Amino acid sequence: MRIVFFGPNGSGKGTQAALLKAELRVPHISTGDLLRAAVKAGTPLGLKAKVVMEAGQLVSDDIVLGLLEERLADADTRPGFILDGYPRNLAQANALDELLARLGQPLDAVVKLNVPDADIVKRCEIRFEQEHRADDNPDTVRKRLRVYAEQTAPVADFYSQRGLLAEIDGVGAIEADRKSVV
Ligand code: AMP
Repeated sequence: MRIVFFGPNGSGKGTQAALLKAELRVPHISTGDLLRAAVKAGTPLGLKAKVVMEAGQLVSDDIVLGLLEERLADADTRPGFILDGYPRNLAQANALDELLARLGQPLDAVVKLNVPDADIVKRCEIRFEQEHRADDNPDTVRKRLRVYAEQTAPVADFYSQRGLLAEIDGVGAIEADRKSVV
């Protein structure tokens, strides 16, 4: 089963994907996590990405695609995967299409979590207090919501036209959301 979780930062993609991975027994691949690992490791790529991430902008398409391609080459992704945080613009959606066609592993579904901006801002405030992620500070969150509306939201149409999009309400109990996914 190959699924993409789609939605703004703070919509609960990571939480839902982590729950669903146990159920489907496929790995959860978050491009944000791959990037944060590169930042932590202090690689040249990580150093480049850090500045962009802290500014709430998108890291360049070729860097993220490179990390994803490397991860999808791992054997544990053969039964499938839950992709979280990718694609974030139309160029990435096209690149993913090509990559998965090359691997002979087309997507089964794209799940979009709908959450109003006001709830996102509140959730990120709480996460900022708990986890101190620099990109969860209120100014950056607002910037990221703008980037989402401008660049990421149009990707939903791309998948809707292919008959792959399922939308769910991302507000309410975590378990209720999960049940509407599976
Ligand atoms: P996330 O954990 O998915 O919210 O990602 C954290 C940050 O990593 C984002 O705000 C971006 O700066 C960067 N990032 C993650 N995934 C991507 C992607 N697919 N394309 C570009 N930047 C990304």
